[in-house]
Amino acid sequence: MKNSLLKAAVTFLSLLMLGTTSSGQSPKFRVLALYSTTVESDHVDFAVSAIKFYTKMAAEKNFVFDLSTDWEKLNDENLKNYQVVVWINEFPHNEAERRSFEKFMTNGGAWLGFHVSGYNDKYTQWPWFVDFLGAVFYNNNWPPLPAKLIVDDGTHPATRHIPKSYISPINEWYGWKPNPRDNKDIKVLVSLDPVNYPLGKKNIITQGDIPVVWTNTKYRMLYMNMGHGDKIFDSEIQNKMFEDAILWLGAK
Ligand code: ZN
Repeated sequence: MKNSLLKAAVTFLSLLMLGTTSSGQSPKFRVLALYSTTVESDHVDFAVSAIKFYTKMAAEKNFVFDLSTDWEKLNDENLKNYQVVVWINEFPHNEAERRSFEKFMTNGGAWLGFHVSGYNDKYTQWPWFVDFLGAVFYNNNWPPLPAKLIVDDGTHPATRHIPKSYISPINEWYGWKPNPRDNKDIKVLVSLDPVNYPLGKKNIITQGDIPVVWTNTKYRMLYMNMGHGDKIFDSEIQNKMFEDAILWLGAK
């Protein structure tokens, strides 16, 4: 009798805890963060620090931050469980994953992409993604370096708590052609300050308007070019943007 009562109590408590976070409340939103460990080592280093950062934040801010290296989790059935998808250091490679992601975004899902997740070139063969991102990779600096950034739009929920300009930690910066700023649907939030030029030693970015954070206003999405190496989360200022970004994406 006593045992069965205990069993019933445990079952009841387990049911209560299903779908709740460590704080005991039901989560505000659910994030699926995908990454890879078989990519460039600097990109794996970034993934390690991003996972640490967002896992801690998820516990504090009461959202679910599920992690996986299995990109096949980008399927219609699984995506029903999530409001936000994050690509930390990779992108889908097959048609099935691409189609499910397109459907997820077109139906109101949210996306946060870092650094190489936005990489695409003439071999990528994914026109939908070029339209979604509004940009094609053009060039990069090497070695990775810190850079002074300008906040183009400080009114967006992702950038409203950071100053008009700040120094972003060591990163490999990408240039884009076409420039996302020329796309009517793209709103550029942060860009490289021209005072950084020439940027690099082996590969040098000498000039140009280079957006680093933007949103496509047709979707709930943010692309951030940061994501190379283990220093990205060293700036309290920038971290604030990383936090506000995911909270905005997760907000209904
Ligand atoms: Zn990189």
